[in-house]
Amino acid sequence: MKFVPQKYRIPDEAMKPFIDPGELHAFLQRPKPEKERVREIIQKSLAKNRLSLPEVADLLNTDDEDLIEEIKAGARELKERVYGNRIVLFAPLYIGNKCINNCRYCGFRTSNRDQQRTTLSDAQIVREVEALEDNGQKRLILVYGEHPDYDASFIAHTVRTVYAVRKGRGEIRRVNINAAPLDIEGFRTVKAAGIGTYQIFQETYHPESYAYYHPSGPKHDFNWRLTGLDRAMEGGIDDLGIGVLFGLYDWRYEVLALVRHTNHFEAVYNIGPHTISFPRIKSAAGIEVNPDHYVNDKDFIRLIAILRLAVPYTGMILTAREPVKIREAAMSFGVSQIDGGTKLELGSYSESKNEMQNLNREQFEINDSRSLNEIIDELLDKGYLPSFCTGCYRVGRTGEHFMEFSVPGFIKRYCTPNAILTLSEYLMDYAPESTVQKGWKVIEANLNKMQDPLVEKETRARLIRIRNGERDLFF
Ligand code: SAM
Ligand code: SF4
Repeated sequence: MKFVPQKYRIPDEAMKPFIDPGELHAFLQRPKPEKERVREIIQKSLAKNRLSLPEVADLLNTDDEDLIEEIKAGARELKERVYGNRIVLFAPLYIGNKCINNCRYCGFRTSNRDQQRTTLSDAQIVREVEALEDNGQKRLILVYGEHPDYDASFIAHTVRTVYAVRKGRGEIRRVNINAAPLDIEGFRTVKAAGIGTYQIFQETYHPESYAYYHPSGPKHDFNWRLTGLDRAMEGGIDDLGIGVLFGLYDWRYEVLALVRHTNHFEAVYNIGPHTISFPRIKSAAGIEVNPDHYVNDKDFIRLIAILRLAVPYTGMILTAREPVKIREAAMSFGVSQIDGGTKLELGSYSESKNEMQNLNREQFEINDSRSLNEIIDELLDKGYLPSFCTGCYRVGRTGEHFMEFSVPGFIKRYCTPNAILTLSEYLMDYAPESTVQKGWKVIEANLNKMQDPLVEKETRARLIRIRNGERDLFF
């Protein structure tokens, strides 16, 4: 990994400054939209049309409480109508917390001398992954600080190490990455290890706030980070995750910037980001965050609903940083992926440690410490279909969210059957009896709702094969 940006090749288009704070602020200063205009925008999204920046700005500029409720209702309808009841589950695995950056909001910042620095050895990674597999996890995101030790070949090595772990019937079928931006060669190296999504959060798209919150280290360079995912594209990774750390600057500006970043990908590469993340700042050791831009719960739910309408074919992730109540609301307004059974302390999946978080060994505080099974139980109770599906990624159907959104019947043909098959594996291999009973009821209900008898028949046939011991059957 080269920390000082060196000569790199990215498409000319991508080099244009696609984040123009003046332009974004101007959109936010437009007059408040009329009721009818807001309703038209909601209907446009529900009719499966992409929203433009001015339209998203109009939704952001709406402060009439009734209209905000209509925006939320629109997002809820879009979520239900287009994506149905599936929720994809994953877990984070922190590989190393050494870091040469000094992000003011992060417990891993280099100036936090109290943070105990650890990098998992191969043997520790194996133990952690075995423990995660024993819980039933199939999808992980590996997380790294930014440090010369964590270069592209190290990241690739850890990804391969994870994929190689097989415990009982367990296996990790998709490894995503959350790490610092690399150069093109570095992204190629990591891609060759078979990663799914590469996530890089811009944290804030407001250059001045960015400069303040990233006072030193390679992350100080706003443009190197902003163009990171363009280099990933150039390095062959077209499965990308963008994100904002909400609380660093005006949330309205950040939502608009996320949409602008999405437009950039669509304009230059003809493919949008795979996922959007929107963490809010949480307590962490040694941080210095200005509370002026704290996003309250009400605005947070509102921004999730606006994002759902604005980028309807992008997966939306909400992690255990948020408490159960917010995660539940967020799922109904648009979130499609959540983590379950999350532990942030390095090595803590395999070592039974004190349940209390120790912020001198972790990046930030989490607010949903339920086990994976508790989360699955509650999802089932609420009529969701928990899914560990990795089907599209495995057969090279990239852009699956776009297809879910735009290809009629895609969800019925692929997503629901694959969710059912992966849930059945979980029920057979890992779940306690009470979850097993609930789970099969939900599976049966979803099978009965299938409109295509052939898909239902084929799904039932595969369920029998899974009952007979086969695994990893997907459409
Ligand atoms: N070190 C890499 C980087 O900065 O890109 C990897 C990501 S970092 C380990 C994961 C993400 O956690 C960051 O991108 C940031 O958005 C988020 N984060 C950092 N401090 C946080 C805090 N106090 N509360 C919530 N999220 C935080
Ligand atoms: Fe390091 Fe990432 Fe934390 Fe910044 S957010 S201090 S780069 S681990």
